[in-house]
Amino acid sequence: MQEFQKSIDIHFPGAQTEADFLNSSYRAIAKYGFDADNTIACVGVCRDELCRSLVWAVREVWGEAFNFSSLGGMLTLGTAGFSAAHAHAPVVDGRERYVYVVMPHIGIDELGVLGKCLREGRHGTSSACGALTAMLGELKSGELDLSLDQDNIEYSILKQHLTPRLLGPDFQTQPLDIKTITMAMSNLITDELEHMIELTVDTEIADYAVLTGVQVHQPVEGSMVWRNASYVCVRGERQELSW
Ligand SMILES: [Zn+2]
Repeated sequence: MQEFQKSIDIHFPGAQTEADFLNSSYRAIAKYGFDADNTIACVGVCRDELCRSLVWAVREVWGEAFNFSSLGGMLTLGTAGFSAAHAHAPVVDGRERYVYVVMPHIGIDELGVLGKCLREGRHGTSSACGALTAMLGELKSGELDLSLDQDNIEYSILKQHLTPRLLGPDFQTQPLDIKTITMAMSNLITDELEHMIELTVDTEIADYAVLTGVQVHQPVEGSMVWRNASYVCVRGERQELSW
């Protein structure tokens, strides 16, 4: 665990357990009038079964959540999906409230190695996130396929959206590895969430909170969350959250 903790301190400083992250953010968001009764939570994580713990942690605090999940944590539900989630929100005193929790994930094994995890019933280490590891492999081989494969829709879209960022100026000076691709994915998901909010949220009638980051699996059991964006938007005014 010592090597794991070292890795967390270096790569994901300040990461909290999922329960701590949810409880702390709930208290911070509650100051702006949100609570479990007047708010719908929307959660987007990777399809990997290791990621479900974050969905359960959200449910503990906010109640049952609308499912935004897709391969790699990519937001593929589109405006129809967002509008459906909003239409399920409670209306209290004429207002709707949404909390979005969306992020990619990464494993860290007991030696502190990023991108690795153990899975029950399987020998040796496994990859997490498998989709990002696969894309990294394609990039490194120089044979990245960016076509829209109708038999592989989610992975195709993930690659199409993430690639421009990985080929951008920020990546000319840093190594292309599982950490940088995961961070790029976290930023992509944050930007795509904000784009969808712009297209589908009417701030005249709705307030919302944004929580993005990276879900980090511990070597034995449980996961942590490193924070990326955390803010609320109340009556169209953005306020950063602190805890
Ligand atoms: Zn994954």
